[in-house]
Amino acid sequence: VPLRPENLDAIARGGDVAVPTYDRSTLTTGIVHFGVGGFHRAHQAMVLDRLFAEGKALDFAICGVGVLEQDRRMKETMDAQGGLYTLMLKHPDGRRESRVIGSIIEYLFAPDDRNAVIEKMADPSTKIVSLTVTEGGYNFHQVTGDFDLGNPLVAADLVPGAEPQTVFGLVVAALRLRRDRGLEPFTVMSCDNIQGNGHVAQKMFTAFARAQDPAFADWMTAHVRFPNCMVDRITPVTSDDDRAEVRANLGIDDAWPVVAEPFFQWVLEDDFGLGRPPYQDADVQMVDDVEPYELMKLRLLNASHQGMCYFGYLSGYRYAHEATQDPAIATFLRNYMDLEGTPTLKPVPGIDLDEYKTTLIERFSNPEVRDTLARLCAESSDRIPKWLLPVVRANLESGGEISRSAGIVASWARYAEGVDESGEPITVVDQLADELTPIALTQRNPEDRLAFIRNEHLFGDLASNERFVAAYVDALDGLLDAGAHATVTRLV
Ligand code: NAD
Repeated sequence: VPLRPENLDAIARGGDVAVPTYDRSTLTTGIVHFGVGGFHRAHQAMVLDRLFAEGKALDFAICGVGVLEQDRRMKETMDAQGGLYTLMLKHPDGRRESRVIGSIIEYLFAPDDRNAVIEKMADPSTKIVSLTVTEGGYNFHQVTGDFDLGNPLVAADLVPGAEPQTVFGLVVAALRLRRDRGLEPFTVMSCDNIQGNGHVAQKMFTAFARAQDPAFADWMTAHVRFPNCMVDRITPVTSDDDRAEVRANLGIDDAWPVVAEPFFQWVLEDDFGLGRPPYQDADVQMVDDVEPYELMKLRLLNASHQGMCYFGYLSGYRYAHEATQDPAIATFLRNYMDLEGTPTLKPVPGIDLDEYKTTLIERFSNPEVRDTLARLCAESSDRIPKWLLPVVRANLESGGEISRSAGIVASWARYAEGVDESGEPITVVDQLADELTPIALTQRNPEDRLAFIRNEHLFGDLASNERFVAAYVDALDGLLDAGAHATVTRLV
């Protein structure tokens, strides 16, 4: 059956799938969302669907917005399906949990009608403008972290009188209209995977406004709220197999279903100017300070991904679940988390850390998600310094354990050589690969074991810290002499 509003009853009768039980015609738009991709549809839109099913937040339905040409296909899908799509959760035991989500009731494609997008945000009923436009969508300069005024699209939006094309031009134009019309500003809620995402969004949108009109930027600083949040749910890109499975098992012809893991987490700073849905009724944790939760995620989840990917790849595995199902690697990860990551965290109210870590190992082991180690091994030079080295530094300072963290850094150095243990080439995906691979290869000379970590840009002064150097060289010697699997087994 084609997924369309008029077919919902037939779909509910025919298959193993829940459909919206609420009357979608009574919903009104309260949220305008930029970047309707897999993640938004598996996460924030799912939360609203749950609230609508309980008769709550009916004035917070979503109007999706696509800004890039690549979003035209989403526009066509949304129009054809009345905003409906299937969310299929993949449990580790192969079980599926499927639901047709009804919380997106409109979709605007900015290249077709920019003014409609601005007017939608300026509408008095709009209370929140949310974003999942990827890390790159915030337009910060890689080195300085400042808003990149050199981006040609941004520069074009800054020409006086230009029709805005970027999310910055569109959102700031709408905020200005609201101010001129005497309306309170909406809240801007970033849900991207960036530490301090609200702060980053505030900095970038305000920098754009400042380049247009400093007085308006000051008004934004004084009046617009940008809550921070931490989001978590692995949502892979939808594959043709997923579409085929939705059709075969649920009897639904859905042009663009979403698949995700069952785990869901959203920790959100409670800072909204014009009100918000009762998110807390749908398992969202509303807090005053998101930072402890972000540290938990970065130092346990993200750092553990680093802990498994190089050791796992060099041991011959290709998927996260294969690596985590290896008892040596699983024990290594759990011990890293317990003995090195956890002691560096701040208190995390409302979270049972023991259970969180157990769940992490279960999530990593989920064979249905098919997360590749290659994906986790990419862009290490951005990741290790942000996710793992702060743990090392904190433990060096406190006298805590560092042998496993040092081992993870060494496993990256070994991986960066670009050749695996059977002599096969590794495709190292890293913007610094050309620089790092030749240096990594020199560490094969016993005199040059520290070559890789002498890069102060990445490692600061770690190469001159005796305790770190001893642990690092011990692990690297093991990787070069005995191999990855023997080394991770020894380091557990
Ligand atoms: P996706 O590729 O399915 O969707 C991304 C959307 O953002 C698309 O609509 C795209 O056109 C739009 N976009 C990209 N760059 C843009 C720009 N410069 N301006 C405006 N729009 C832009 O990706 P996704 O899986 O939905 O993930 C999106 C983001 O969500 C991630 O980058 C991450 O920050 C966050 N997130 C994702 C996951 C996950 O597992 N997929 C988990 C946690 C957080």
